[in-house]
Amino acid sequence: MALLQISEPGQSAAPHQHKLAVGIDLGTTNSLVATVRSGMSTVLQDAHGHGLLPSVVRYAPDGKVIVGHEAQAQLSADPTNTIASVKRFMGRSLHDIADRAHIPYRFVEDDSAKKQVQLQTRAGLKTPVEISAEILNALKKRAENALGGELTGAVITVPAYFDDAQRQATKDAARLAGLNVLRLLNEPTAAAVAYGLDNNAEGIFVIYDLGGGTFDVSILKLTKGVFEVLATNGDSALGGDDFDHRIYCWVLDKVRETSKNFSPLNEEDTRLLLTKARQAKEWLTDNFEAQIVCKLSNGTMVDVTLTATQFVELTQHLVTKTLSPTRKAMRDAQLDITDIKGVVLVGGATRMPQVRHAVEEYFQQTPLTNLDPDKVVALGAAIQANALVGNRSDSDLLLLDVTPLSLGLETMGGLVEKIIPRNSTLPVARAQDFTTYKDGQTAMSIQVVQGERELVADCRSLARFELRGIPPMAAGAARIRVTFTVDADGLLSVSAREQTSGVEANIVVKPSYGLSEDEITRMLKDSFSGAEQDKHARMLTEARVNAGAIIQSITQALKVDGDLISTADKQAIETEIERLKATSQAGDADAINKAVDALNHSTEAFAQARMNASVAKALAGKNLEDIQL
Ligand code: AMP
Repeated sequence: MALLQISEPGQSAAPHQHKLAVGIDLGTTNSLVATVRSGMSTVLQDAHGHGLLPSVVRYAPDGKVIVGHEAQAQLSADPTNTIASVKRFMGRSLHDIADRAHIPYRFVEDDSAKKQVQLQTRAGLKTPVEISAEILNALKKRAENALGGELTGAVITVPAYFDDAQRQATKDAARLAGLNVLRLLNEPTAAAVAYGLDNNAEGIFVIYDLGGGTFDVSILKLTKGVFEVLATNGDSALGGDDFDHRIYCWVLDKVRETSKNFSPLNEEDTRLLLTKARQAKEWLTDNFEAQIVCKLSNGTMVDVTLTATQFVELTQHLVTKTLSPTRKAMRDAQLDITDIKGVVLVGGATRMPQVRHAVEEYFQQTPLTNLDPDKVVALGAAIQANALVGNRSDSDLLLLDVTPLSLGLETMGGLVEKIIPRNSTLPVARAQDFTTYKDGQTAMSIQVVQGERELVADCRSLARFELRGIPPMAAGAARIRVTFTVDADGLLSVSAREQTSGVEANIVVKPSYGLSEDEITRMLKDSFSGAEQDKHARMLTEARVNAGAIIQSITQALKVDGDLISTADKQAIETEIERLKATSQAGDADAINKAVDALNHSTEAFAQARMNASVAKALAGKNLEDIQL
């Protein structure tokens, strides 16, 4: 009888062994943790039955760190020690946080080269990574309590536009919280996974995500289980809160109409009225009218009724505002509405019927809404985590990203030559040949830039390096191949190689480091509004660079061979050179090009004389047989 085999302790590979894996939606306002149980992705709740964990961390006077609802309740009482929306500061420097005036925190820059922000709290300086780690730790504990064991790993979601530094900071936070990060997953991709689009669908999908404070739209292409982010866009200052604010303003107007001597609201009343506004908004999702009733601290009674129709009118411009980034993303991905196979709604604010209608009308199809839009990202992350730890044998999804802005280098005259266009799918590698500007040039300075504008001065400089040891050749004869490579993590390497000698230089840069979403948006906006101006600037610079090169080569030739022509011919050329120099100073590209033509024309006899001289030199001392090869 064959002997039965027994494995070493702890090495058993029982096929039914289920590893504990979770998906975490680390959100700006709320965070969630989900797992797959009995084949179903489910959000895990705390002891009070809450699924959402407010992303708020409080450093309490007794030294305790409080996370979630309890911390949120202290936000206005203890603002500098109660940190909300820390996600906005991940991987950022002070410089990147544009709208600091409205943020109550005391920021300090660390002394590393990256100058990342830190927050001064009563528990000392805290980095956004440490603060996020507290949120992740709370979710980890929740999961371990609910699942009764240690977690094998977690998939954590990040916005699709998160750059390398923000992704790295998220990973660091997870590590600090003792989590094994299986993968960072783009939020829109997680939403698509939650709807099972990876299993049986091929095609292009739009993920429309309207949360409390932000709007993101992403276009994903799914092919054989491969997710590719074709384009992302959004508005970091547009969300459900703006709808609350519209109701709040409407209520104030109504109250002012009825009560004379109405004084401005204090902070407490503002908060009360905003909460009432939010409740009314949420109520109107399923009802025709909402009653807003409360008593302000000065005794004024508020009692107004808002109908769903009025609410739609009040907020129509906000709904319309989401369509502009949507259109831009469609344009970036070069798609037509008819190319879109499905639309997924994410974020609590997409529950509003007017939002659903607008999306439906724009895309001419009913969006997918049957999963809870607050939970869909965490649910998708859990499905992915479950697959990655091997609980599901059928998939290991490959996820691709895009470059948010074009990458290129500086050419003569401060112009940008784009090598990798924006929205290229990662990883990507592109090469282009360049040449020298001057005779005998042996070195070249390569400046790597990011942005959509035509002039280096309007783009962001990422790095500069030099290629030395180019063999001396005539201007324009050397071939220098410059290769840009961006790997799957968004890391850019640039190499320059002179083709005949093989001399090479290279550099590695993180192209997106330190760029906020707003900055990317601003750079793109500038590129659209500056397009015409850029075209002129580019034409002018190109004409000037061309003129400079011609002047230089003719001056050099005159120095060497000037005695081949008459003084009068020489003077005529010199006159045209001076004229071209003067024209180049002015700002008319056409005039410069005409002056170049005139100069070229004036050198025809000289060129002929040089040609004859060099032929005569080549033939000197040779007989006819030598020449008839
Ligand atoms: P999120 O950031 O995805 O959690 O979305 C939060 C936003 O969704 C807040 O502005 C909420 O007021 C809003 N929201 C939640 N539920 C509803 C609802 N039933 N109707 C309208 N808005 C909602």
